[in-house]
Amino acid sequence: MADFTINVPIVELNVSNFDGRSYQELVEIIHKSSFCSIDFELSGLGESSRCSSVQERYESVKKAAQTRSIVSVGLAFYVHNHHKQQSGCLLPFDVYVFDAKTLCRENFIIEPKAASFLIKHGFDFNHLFQTGLGYSLDDRDKIQFPKYPSQFKPADVQIRQVVLQIIRSQVPIVVHNGFCDLLFLYHHFYDNLPDRADVFQQNVNDLFRGGVYDTKYISFDSEDLSCSYLSYIFKKIHRNNVIKQASSAKHVEILFPKFNSLKPTINIPCKVGRKFNELLKGNNISLQPCLQICEKFAQSGFCLDETNCVLSHNVDDVLDAEYYFTHQRNSDKRRKLDHEDPENLNPDSRTKNDMNSSFGHRAGFDSFITGFCFAYFLLTHEKPDDSNDLCMDGDASDFLESNFNIEHVKNRLALMKRSHPFCLMKSNFVKMSTEHMKKSSMLF
Ligand SMILES: [Zn+2]
Repeated sequence: MADFTINVPIVELNVSNFDGRSYQELVEIIHKSSFCSIDFELSGLGESSRCSSVQERYESVKKAAQTRSIVSVGLAFYVHNHHKQQSGCLLPFDVYVFDAKTLCRENFIIEPKAASFLIKHGFDFNHLFQTGLGYSLDDRDKIQFPKYPSQFKPADVQIRQVVLQIIRSQVPIVVHNGFCDLLFLYHHFYDNLPDRADVFQQNVNDLFRGGVYDTKYISFDSEDLSCSYLSYIFKKIHRNNVIKQASSAKHVEILFPKFNSLKPTINIPCKVGRKFNELLKGNNISLQPCLQICEKFAQSGFCLDETNCVLSHNVDDVLDAEYYFTHQRNSDKRRKLDHEDPENLNPDSRTKNDMNSSFGHRAGFDSFITGFCFAYFLLTHEKPDDSNDLCMDGDASDFLESNFNIEHVKNRLALMKRSHPFCLMKSNFVKMSTEHMKKSSMLF
């Protein structure tokens, strides 16, 4: 019986391993990528205001981007594996995952709430200040790209330069709830943000020429997904993919090829959940929850009282319950109660609450799972066989558009309201800023 655990190797980039050689390897990976998923950890998000208009929301995140910092950049590069494609019912990707610790040289605010959240998830601020890759807002005007690898100078080896290489290569970008991430990326690695949201819209549309996809927006489209927070979507999609795999249906296959000069420093296992795994093995097991699930957590992915709340904050429990109530409850004759009395909670289970087990590499890990969700979305939106060329060694840049029907979700970012995405598209009424036009001419 196959093991359905995905062990995700992550390369941490810091001052000890980020040099000309590893930079060169990264650039090579960028150029062959089918898409790249990005996730940031931030030193804070500013005050969450109840903004009514897009412009107000933009201004509030812009203010945060100007005063807070990016403390880690997660990058997952998905490269469609043409050779594996020929061998059966797979959608195979080679995946390279990075977690770059980054340190802004200018003063910035660290919000206590954001810091304690990060520390709770294993983020080490000592490590960040000792080994983080420095970047400065003053460097944003230095845009130069050597023609040949031999011309790389140590000054080119910067995390900002990696981000610009991604933009230059026009590889499609995948984010989860990426509105904030895009503003932070723009301000910290590219240029000052324009005053108006609609001008930002035009600039970004021109900057990310391979398109931007937001898995949160995509999840609104799927009837199968009742919530839209990342850990829920990923675990649900991982289970769906495993069901396909177990029944020999076409599924996403993830491969982690070896690096040339880099070494992954951490391996994060993604398991499908113990009871669900038993079910897959053919064992007749009930997924009825034996713990009461925290409703708030189940809905949104967080509980305000995480330290005192004794209810389950484990996404696997949420999914088990969902499975039980849709597939098993009616046939379970031994059923007595839908919810067990919280008094009977096993105290051991309280410590098992899911912390995403990413040990301080959340940005890298989250970029991987964002990319995985997108890959599964591709699988379910493939063009008919005769019109796609999955098996051919096509150009990496048009891999998405020539093989999948995904135009309806392209360049749409989730905002607060489900029905109103932030759309990146050319307008006849709003122009790009002159600052952007000047700068992008150096990029492309
Ligand atoms: Zn709770």
